[in-house]
Amino acid sequence: MQVKIHLNRELCTKCGLCVRYCPTEVFVLEGSEIRVREERCIYCRACEVLCPQGSIKTELLDDGLSIEVHKVL
Ligand code: SF4
Ligand code: SF4
Repeated sequence: MQVKIHLNRELCTKCGLCVRYCPTEVFVLEGSEIRVREERCIYCRACEVLCPQGSIKTELLDDGLSIEVHKVL
């Protein structure tokens, strides 16, 4: 699964809710910056709902379910 996380840093107040409640610890508060580890995301979308600033949007790029079919001659 490949998820793109759009974090609007101008709206973010660094309240830390996403850091605390994301089930797979995608967000890390490093100094005064939120680091986003997209590769850990399971696309539950909880962060979009809980962020009081509405500063997180998630986008599913690939659900990981597609298969490659090779033609055998
Ligand atoms: S929940 Fe929203 S406002 Fe709070 S730190 Fe995360 S992105 Fe920023
Ligand atoms: S969608 Fe879920 S797993 Fe992904 S960053 Fe948001 S809370 Fe974490």
